Amino acid sequence: MSHEPRSHGPERVLQHPFPTPQREKEQAWDVVVVGAGHAGIEAALAAARLGQRVALVSLRADRIGEMSCNPAIGGLGKGQIVREVDALGGAMARIADQTGIQFRMLNTRKGAAVRALRCQSDRHLYRAAATALVHAQVGVEVIEGAVTGLEIRAAEPHPGSGPWRVTGVQLGDGRSLHAGAVILTAGTFLRAVMFQGEQRAAGGRVGEDSADELSAHIERLGLRLGRLKTGTPPRLRKESLDFGAMEEQGGDRDPACFSYATDPARFPEQPQVPCHITYTDERAHAIIRENIHRAPMYMGAISGVGPRYCPSVEDKIMRFADRERHQIFVEPEGLDTDAIYVNGVSTSLPAEVQEAFVRTVPGLERAEFLRHGYAVEYDFLQPSQLTHTLAVRHVPGLYLAGQLNGTSGYEEAAIQGLLAGANAALWLRGEPAFTLGRHEAYGGVLVDDLILTDPREPYRMFTSRAEHRLLLRHDNADQRLTERGAAVGLVEPAALARWRRKAERIAEGRRLLQSLRGPGGKSAYDRLRRPGVSLLRDFQDLPEVAALGLGPEEREALEVEAKYQGYIERQEHLVERMAEQEATPLPADWDYHALEGLTGEAKEKLAHLRPHTLGAAARIAGVRPPDVALLAIHLRRHREARTGAQDHREARDGAQA
Ligand SMILES: Cc1cc2nc3c(=O)[nH]c(=O)nc-3n(C[C@H](O)[C@H](O)[C@H](O)COP(=O)(O)OP(=O)(O)OC[C@H]3O[C@@H](n4cnc5c(N)ncnc54)[C@H](O)[C@@H]3O)c2cc1C
Repeated sequence: MSHEPRSHGPERVLQHPFPTPQREKEQAWDVVVVGAGHAGIEAALAAARLGQRVALVSLRADRIGEMSCNPAIGGLGKGQIVREVDALGGAMARIADQTGIQFRMLNTRKGAAVRALRCQSDRHLYRAAATALVHAQVGVEVIEGAVTGLEIRAAEPHPGSGPWRVTGVQLGDGRSLHAGAVILTAGTFLRAVMFQGEQRAAGGRVGEDSADELSAHIERLGLRLGRLKTGTPPRLRKESLDFGAMEEQGGDRDPACFSYATDPARFPEQPQVPCHITYTDERAHAIIRENIHRAPMYMGAISGVGPRYCPSVEDKIMRFADRERHQIFVEPEGLDTDAIYVNGVSTSLPAEVQEAFVRTVPGLERAEFLRHGYAVEYDFLQPSQLTHTLAVRHVPGLYLAGQLNGTSGYEEAAIQGLLAGANAALWLRGEPAFTLGRHEAYGGVLVDDLILTDPREPYRMFTSRAEHRLLLRHDNADQRLTERGAAVGLVEPAALARWRRKAERIAEGRRLLQSLRGPGGKSAYDRLRRPGVSLLRDFQDLPEVAALGLGPEEREALEVEAKYQGYIERQEHLVERMAEQEATPLPADWDYHALEGLTGEAKEKLAHLRPHTLGAAARIAGVRPPDVALLAIHLRRHREARTGAQDHREARDGAQA
């Protein structure tokens, strides 16, 4: 596994960041996490699992784990991330299982590589469960307040890092919280402005302030910011909708859960409810087109770019003018709430235009609005300023995670939070970093993509982003990550023991199936490879197999490995071939402009993005195979020159001695 190049200079100093008696009297923590959204929660919990004392600071202590937009977890590419968070001891999967009111496994007819679970959660239950988990975690204290700046102290200049390090945060009310490391997870709140038609207001989310001072402070530190945009649809009153005019979409009859820790016998915990589907038609499209000049994006009021894959309804109508209808998922926000989320019509058109077009949609004719849709534009930090640990390259002690890194979505935020929390803790302990490879986890793909390209739109995970997606399946997150997480202390002993029991049972099942011979001498394992042959249907009645009593997850693991063995081996082979490049570190302080033969574009990109390995350099758009070959040659010369210099020094020192 790749470890962080040693750009964290003063880490040993930082193990005792507050040596003076004066400091001991003040509020001091190992780690301060700013923001209690999906990134902040995982960051705080991960750092605390690694023995750190954590202050979790949030604008509102009653909004821990708030789902700003759709109360849904998982989906394609994202469901796999939730499983990875779980396999690494994180909280998101457990909270989703406790609060899910509809679970659906997506892509069941397609291959195992793209299968993923999605659940609709009860928004209030989710927030309550997240809050309870945070409060129950030993070592975490929740502090309500607005962080306005970072405390920065001069540090010894060190190769690859700047002249300062972070020593805490300042709050708007004058308090200071001192810490060895700070993790910023401020989501969509940095200099956030909300838009609805001609109206605009400061705020990261309805009812919450924006974080303007923090943004300005970060900018003064010399960090590069950009602007992005996202939006949310209206919320409608359930009683005012005609569900009879819509298609019903139920959840799975025998739903799967996210967390490896969830007891299937007690799952699902919540009553399961249906969602509904309806469609816009030409009437809605005409109203939107007539009023498009009143949409903030089209008025030129918003400069930030929104997610292309999750466009506002006005964007859909303008960009896909030939489409006769657009699908709307009508989803309950919870069991005890009257609020319905209309997924598919995110909009920032004026309130009266929203009402007019929504009421043309079958089933929504008499819709009462509980809240109108709006857009939010916010600052994000260009993630190319980060290393693979999510540490800011030039500010030791500062980590960034979640939507403020240019991503979108709860799941993308959660895995970043977990990695940042773990790495801040490991750094404070002076231990090697914990990073994930692209072949190991979607979390690895996400971080690698982020730091090697500055996003031009909010980054959402897709299975197509992972070149090794057959290895990164929903079913095998524990197989990929639990031992790795346990090795650094992220995974509780009980979870590790559970995984090892499961691994043993899968191995037993494999041995048994390989030993059972059928007609023609073929083993049951070989027959399982054929399309359409299923362990449950075709072998479960065999007394030996029944006696093993394999659970659904164990059966699935066996079936997937048997059916995809050839493809999996090919991908593993590819990973092995690339391993050498991935393990070849590039000097953190290399002057790429001085390297002969590289194209101008390659020099620019390499100097800007500073890839940590040769493999990472090869993935940068604009760095071509001949550039990579040249880099390898320069690297060899660089090493030889350094070895020569070292020999020379040793010879000289020897002579002096
Ligand atoms: C209107 C809206 C629409 C969205 N639409 C979508 C969508 O369609 N699809 C999608 O995938 N995602 C959407 N999102 C984004 C989704 O909410 C985020 O991806 C997810 O919540 C990111 O998690 P996070 O932890 O990074 O940030 P958040 O969940 O936003 O949490 C940020 C936390 O930081 C705290 N905070 C901020 N500044 C400070 C400060 N200075 N001091 C102390 N605390 C601070 C806040 O109180 C909050 O607790 C939307 C968000 C909004 C607001």
